[in-house]
Amino acid sequence: MIRENVKKILKGLPDGVQLVAAAKTRTPEEVLEAVEAGVTIIGENYVQEAETAFKVVEHRAKWHMIGHLQSNKAKKAVAIFDMIETVDSIRLAKAINNACKNAGRSMSVLVEINSAKEKQKAGVMPEDAVVFIKELSSLDFIHVEGLMTMGPFSVNAEDLRPYFRITRELFEKIKALEIPNVNMTYLSMGMSDSYIVAIEEGANLVRIGTRIFGKRQ
Ligand SMILES: *Cc1c(COP(=O)(O)O)cnc(C)c1O
Repeated sequence: MIRENVKKILKGLPDGVQLVAAAKTRTPEEVLEAVEAGVTIIGENYVQEAETAFKVVEHRAKWHMIGHLQSNKAKKAVAIFDMIETVDSIRLAKAINNACKNAGRSMSVLVEINSAKEKQKAGVMPEDAVVFIKELSSLDFIHVEGLMTMGPFSVNAEDLRPYFRITRELFEKIKALEIPNVNMTYLSMGMSDSYIVAIEEGANLVRIGTRIFGKRQ
């Protein structure tokens, strides 16, 4: 099923929109099957799961961190990931920057936006994003390449449209500022039940799990 699901999703994506296969709770074999069917980016929520899957899949795909990353896991994350989509604190950004410096590499990052301003949720508040990104722009081993948002939990994709739109508008605003060392290239929004709406609102990275791998246990 994984193979058919991947092919169907890829076929339906407009040009310029990339699929991130959200792999949390899946086995390395399932992840490999998705890659062999055409997935080029794997999204992981946990460093340890990424390490396990990486041993099997290695560099046959790019690896994106899409879950909350703790600063004390930055070193391990830097050893695997090509992009960290969930930077939302200076402390975390500095930990990644430092780990990259030690590893002799740089890291592409997205800034996670708390687009619905939910108190308990991760992400930078939309009104704080410009100042936050200006601060990140001075870190030599990190390159901000766009924004990511989850939006509130909702069973109805249309309910998410305003939050995708807010994030897209912020993306355009930051792009226009032409901040040095910042490139607004990627806008990561939308999951299995909302990616169509997210693409309509400008997403060019969509993170899909259930529609590829089936329901999680
Ligand atoms: C699980 C997850 C997804 C994918 O969710 P599905 O509804 O299974 O497609 C996307 N993004 C993040 C950050 C996730 O944790």
